[in-house]
Amino acid sequence: MSKRDYYEILEVSRNATPEEIKKAYRQQALKYHPDKNPDNKEAEEKFKKAAEAYEVLSDPEKRKRYDQFGHAGMGNNKSGFSGGFGGGMSMDEIFRHFGDIFGGGGFDDPFGTMFGGGGGRGRKAVNRGSNLRVKVKLTLEEIAHGVEKKIKVNKYIRCNTCKGTGAKGGSSYQTCSTCRGSGHVTRVTSTFLGQMQTTSPCPQCGGEGQIITDKCQDCAGNGIIKGEEVISIRIPAGVSEGMQLSVNGKGNAAARGGVQGDLFVQIEEIEHPDLMRDGDNLHYEHYITITEAALGTSAEVPTVDGKAKIKIEPGTQSGRVLRLKGKGLPNVNQWEGKGDLLITIHVWIPRTLSKEEKTILEKLGESPNFKPNPSSRDKNIFSRMKDIFE
Ligand SMILES: [Zn+2]
Ligand SMILES: [Zn+2]
Repeated sequence: MSKRDYYEILEVSRNATPEEIKKAYRQQALKYHPDKNPDNKEAEEKFKKAAEAYEVLSDPEKRKRYDQFGHAGMGNNKSGFSGGFGGGMSMDEIFRHFGDIFGGGGFDDPFGTMFGGGGGRGRKAVNRGSNLRVKVKLTLEEIAHGVEKKIKVNKYIRCNTCKGTGAKGGSSYQTCSTCRGSGHVTRVTSTFLGQMQTTSPCPQCGGEGQIITDKCQDCAGNGIIKGEEVISIRIPAGVSEGMQLSVNGKGNAAARGGVQGDLFVQIEEIEHPDLMRDGDNLHYEHYITITEAALGTSAEVPTVDGKAKIKIEPGTQSGRVLRLKGKGLPNVNQWEGKGDLLITIHVWIPRTLSKEEKTILEKLGESPNFKPNPSSRDKNIFSRMKDIFE
């Protein structure tokens, strides 16, 4: 894996001043901060890379080595400094470094609030509920108009007995003595670059800062139980098979009062008995008799808004396509407008004939009007599509 240049990552020149580097890092950290980009792996990666770049470029000694030897001069993980920079750094470590690097007012307000605990070193581990996936079946009519769906989801919900704390009576827990409630432990080690601090989640309390002394019996100390929730989901018009909508915070509840996961709703289409979907357009096959084709007629066709009346001109050929503009489906991107309903006319040729019918048809067949005489219009499917809004 080739590594990107640290100056390039922070978007500064090679002779940037320490202030410029700090400013550049601050911008990147704010931009790609996970609180601003939840569940965004790419942002998280950029956030980590920026931290790594800053860690090196903000230190005159390391910067000098980097300028001279590039990434090779950094020794990557081998030196073990700073808890393993070079891609191996955890988010928690980065947050803790904000404390190390900017503690004492280096950063002003945005970081104070964003890093949860203003000036504190790092933050406690926050449990996150897992995401959930459900499928929802929609009729073409529901897709055409958009719909509010209530779906019952089996999921982990908060245990009410302990109010999600996992502790019996909601209060039988105590502050972890190992980390004194901070959720992490700090170790100072000496390296060839000087003293380095490494911080890791507290092994005693798993980073939560508290230890339950008496577990809630209903949830075995987890703070969550299996249950169900009826969730109302607004589905926009124009969605299609396989599309996925996400509903923030409607996934599984997290253990002991963390952040709920997300709910992903996958769309499934129920086949319509008459209409066939093709993107935003709808297709309908309409059959008429030979006499209707010759004499002209009118007919009713199904649409997603009920029946529509169409007029069939005398002399209509089999295979002709009539277009009802705007009677298709709305595009899910509303600004793209609506599709059309395309009606293919089929002329039904009788399969059995009585003696009398045969005689009449034979007579008619002799007429020059019954001789095929296709115009170019009948041969070209595209010109056969005709706007017949009425
Ligand atoms: Zn409980
Ligand atoms: Zn602890």
